[in-house]
Amino acid sequence: MTDVSSPTHNDDLQKAAAFHGHVCPGLVFGLRAARAALEELGPRALDEELVAIVENDSCAVDAIQALTGCTFGKGNLIFRDYGKQVYTFFNRTTGNSVRIAIEFKKSESPEDSGMWERYKKGDRSPEVIEAVARIKAEKVRAILESPDDLIMRKSEALETLPNAARIYPSARCSACGEAVMEPRARIRDGLPVCIPCSTR
Ligand SMILES: [Zn+2]
Ligand SMILES: [Zn+2]
Repeated sequence: MTDVSSPTHNDDLQKAAAFHGHVCPGLVFGLRAARAALEELGPRALDEELVAIVENDSCAVDAIQALTGCTFGKGNLIFRDYGKQVYTFFNRTTGNSVRIAIEFKKSESPEDSGMWERYKKGDRSPEVIEAVARIKAEKVRAILESPDDLIMRKSEALETLPNAARIYPSARCSACGEAVMEPRARIRDGLPVCIPCSTR
């Protein structure tokens, strides 16, 4: 975690940090991907003008939601659980796309690596805590200050534009009586049931 009032402070970082809760290297990767996407594809989405496909659910995705307007709730943020630092964006109007693969290598001194090792093994001594905070802050700054071509590879999307989010009618679960979006309802003994009830 880094103080937002550090020299790395800027509006986007503040906006992303306000949403996410802290500043961390992951958040800043997302910030850089979001900025690159907006440069290529146009302004932040108020509705579904932009779509993001994210291939992980790390801190980075919060910066993408805060800065691009591609959000979980609007359905224009699509999560694929691939564990990759890859973010694909589309502009629905123009059909343009950009796929951003984060590539970042920061060399670490043997001393810093040693501190990380101690931290991972559970060492929470002031010396280690301080070193870890400093290493993270340095990484945040390095990510913020690197030119695009040193931290990401950009290309066109490898997949086609996903369909827009849809609104579905509701069904009534015959077991709990609660409403459930029709395509998610299951049929048991000829009657609709919600997924939780279908597993009971
Ligand atoms: Zn974080
Ligand atoms: Zn139910």
